[in-house]
Formats: sequence, structure tokens, C-alpha cells
Amino acid sequence: MATLIATQDPTRTDPDSTITLVFEGRSAFGIDQWAYVPFDVPPGVHRIDVRTSHDRFSVLGVARNVLDLGVFGPAGHDVGNAAGFRGWSGGARAGFSLSSVDATPGYLAGPIDPGRWTLALGPVVLNPLGMGWHAEVKLHRGPPPPSDRIRKCAPDTATTRGSGWYRGDLHVHTVHSDGSCELDETVARASAAGLDFIVSTEHNTSSANREWAGVADGLLVVSGEEVTTRHGHWLAVGLPPDGWVDWRYGPRDGVFARYVCQVRSDGGLVVAAHPSVPLPGSLWEFGFCGVDAMEVWNGRWNVDDEMSLRTWLRLLRNGRRITAVGSSDSHGHHQPVGRPHTVVHAEQFAPGALVDALRFGRCYLAESCAVTVSLTAVADDETAGPGETLVLSDGAEVTITGAVRAAPHTTAAIITDTGCVARATIDGSGVGVVEWTGTAADVRFALIEVRHASRMRMRPMLALTNPVWMERASNADQLDSQPKADNRHHERQRHGAQPDAGELDETRPHVPANDSAPQQIGE
Ligand SMILES: [Zn+2]
Ligand SMILES: [Zn+2]
Repeated sequence: MATLIATQDPTRTDPDSTITLVFEGRSAFGIDQWAYVPFDVPPGVHRIDVRTSHDRFSVLGVARNVLDLGVFGPAGHDVGNAAGFRGWSGGARAGFSLSSVDATPGYLAGPIDPGRWTLALGPVVLNPLGMGWHAEVKLHRGPPPPSDRIRKCAPDTATTRGSGWYRGDLHVHTVHSDGSCELDETVARASAAGLDFIVSTEHNTSSANREWAGVADGLLVVSGEEVTTRHGHWLAVGLPPDGWVDWRYGPRDGVFARYVCQVRSDGGLVVAAHPSVPLPGSLWEFGFCGVDAMEVWNGRWNVDDEMSLRTWLRLLRNGRRITAVGSSDSHGHHQPVGRPHTVVHAEQFAPGALVDALRFGRCYLAESCAVTVSLTAVADDETAGPGETLVLSDGAEVTITGAVRAAPHTTAAIITDTGCVARATIDGSGVGVVEWTGTAADVRFALIEVRHASRMRMRPMLALTNPVWMERASNADQLDSQPKADNRHHERQRHGAQPDAGELDETRPHVPANDSAPQQIGE
């Protein structure tokens, strides 16, 4: 609970007509709290400057007090109020500047409408005695500066590139939240890494999505956000250019599903980010019901990725068709963009097609752009790859093949719902194949995992595919007798995922095998 000790009285008006408001407050121990500081903006103000400070405190040098910072305009600051949102910098900045023509990265330039504005503070207080904080707001009056600014949005990607494999980093930060790289620098890093696209995922703000058009330079930038709640982070991938998703809630508030629906109805994807990071605020607490994808691999392969992998495999074994993705979560040069990334087979090189392909799991995860993996399942003269379903006649033989290139000194394994069924060692040439043949009754899904050779117990991942699914024709026929008025809806029923234990009903759309031509998976 925050206590506001001083409000905007007394105020000070400087000779240049600048109004200065000073606020002081104190917040109790805890990380899941918000403090709102209202201030009145009179007519004639053209710029707002804010500076904050707070009591310093750290625990063993690894965790410290933080004062997250953001601002809402006169449209209001209630949870979900997109019209009121004017910017967020979290704990990355101790102030911002905002006018009709420019703004500190993380904040949205635009009219400074008179009325009641609100500073939104997120005190992260590790000191049991609480934390004092201070905020100074300066309101600059005078005529508005001339506006020659042209509003830019994420580039509209009219492209002639059709069906194919596209490499993208789904999780990247810049100076618009807590990253250290400018937008043009980030574009250069992504292009140098060999990526076709990135998703712009700043913490809790849409400001970068408005700026990419001027710098994208051939790289496709998909609008997104890392919705950074105090109970886990999630990526909203494929937002409209002006889209914004609120973060001020936890599982007990019961509103997570509302924001999932918002993102999905806008054509976007919901991805649980680094779900197993064992830190308060980062560990995923919303469950996987309603989540389209899991960031199984975040940055350098680590113990928490291993934990996420186990969770994902458990969900698959329960029949839950949830996509695995990998991304760098790059915040600067120490975290290379594209390591790892997700390789997506999309019908078209455009945000909507890429998001659709991710939703269906038509993708694999790779450590770098050098690595390629193909996964095919063949039976009854039909072929399917990641995210597709092979319908098998009872007793039919199915052959699973994984082919790997540019993966020297690794092992490639075929993983099914029963565990690892085949493994191959790949020598210094980097080229190898792993294969397994079984019957329809033996396997419900299969995927390829490629790991570096290492004496360590935990061998780092080099590549991981999403599964190809196997379904027995007798089961499919039963469902085929259902009405087919809406084919896609029918397919959702037919391939509906079984909810994870303890989860609510959850289905995921799925593209039937006969909707897609047999194809060789690979680049
Ligand atoms: Zn995060
Ligand atoms: Zn992140």
C-alpha cells in the first residue's frame, strides 16, 4: 500500500510559466503493488517533464528496490484503458519527457490535453521497512511546437515472397524499454544474424511499434509487446500497430483470459515467455490454458529452458497442441539477436501468415541461422511435417525422419510421446539423419531434438522441432461423421487439445493434413 505524503500543493510557478509539482510517498514491502499520483494539467501546457527518485536497497547485490514509472492521460488509468495510456519505462528510467511532437522512448508523443493526468508507479520494495519515493512533475506552458512529425507505424509488408521458411526472433528489446540498442542498430544486428523478421516486444509499451517504419530497411518487423506482469511475462505477437496490452493484474484477478481474447481477436499470438525462470515476477503463474505458445528456449540454453522443455513435453503427452518457440530476449550486444530464433514455414512472408504458422506449430527452433533441420513423417503415401497431422490407417507403418545440416559434433534424437525412440551421432561434417519406423499404435507425435556433444550432464540445445502429429483413421472417421458446416470449426473440434490436468476446457485450431500438400520440411 502506498502512502502519498505530499500532493501537488504547494506548487511553484517559475518566471517562464513552468509549473513544478512535487510529490513524495512511501510504499510498503512487496513487489505486487501500484501507486497512482494524479496531477492536473491546465490548458496551454505543451510539455510534461517528470523525474523520480527512491530509496536504494539491495539484497546480496543481486536484487534491489525499483520504482517502475509510466503515465496515463485524462482518458483515465483504469486497468485496460488503452485510450489513457501514454507510456511506460518501468525501472529502466527515472524520468521522461512528453510533448505533442516528441517523447522519451517508451512514451507516446501526442496532444497534451488539459485535465487530470496520472503517474503510474510500480514500487518493487525489498526493504522490510518500506521505501520512500519522490516525483517532480514540470508542466511547461506556451504555444505548442510546430509539428512536422509524420506518424509512423510498423511497416506494412507488401511483399512478393510466398510460401517458404522464414527465420525470426520473436523477443527483442531496444531503448524503448530496458534494452541498450537503438532501433536502427537492432535492425542491423538482426540482418547481420541472417534473420528475415523480428517481433518488437518492449515491456508494457507500444512506442517502438510506431517507429520501425523509418528504420526497418528490408527487415520485417512484426508489432508486439512483452506484457510484463508481476506474475510472469507473455509475448503478444502480431498486434495492430497501435495495439497495447495492459499488465496490471495477476491470476487471482481473473482477467488474463480477457487480454488473451483481445490479442487473439486482433489476429495475434499469446506466448508464455521464459516460463520457468525461477524469479519472483518472472515465473509463469497463469497456467497454459489459453496460451498459444511457450518460449521453451530463451537466450543461452539454461536450466530453466530444460525445465520449460519438460513442461512442454508433458503438455504434448496430454494431447495439448501448444507451439514451442525460441528467441533471444536480447537487451543489448551481450545477448546476440537471433540466438536462438524460430524458423517458420509460412504461406506468405507477412505478419498474419507468420502468426498463423506459429499458431499451428509449423516451425522449429535453431541456435543460429547456419542450422537447418527437417522432420518428416511418411505413411500410406502421405507426408507431414511439424505442426501437421498424418492420418494413419490402423496398423499402418509410419517412418519418422530427421535430417540435420550444419550441426557438427551433435546428437539428433527422435522424441515421441513414449520418449526417445532413436538417436544418431553427427560427426564433424555436420550432416546427419536419424530415422525410426513404427506403427500407428506406437506413436501420437514425434519431434527432433539436436544437442551439442558435451561432457556436462545438461547438453545445450542446437535445434528443436515442433511435433508432427499422428492420428488413427478410425478416430478421424468417427469425427468426420460430424456436420461440416464450418470446416475450420469442425477441425478445431476434431483436433481439439485435451486440457492439461487441472486446466479449463481449451482447444486449439489445427490444420488438417489434407489441407496442406505433402512437403519436404527444410529450407
Ligand atoms: Zn521477460
Ligand atoms: Zn524480454
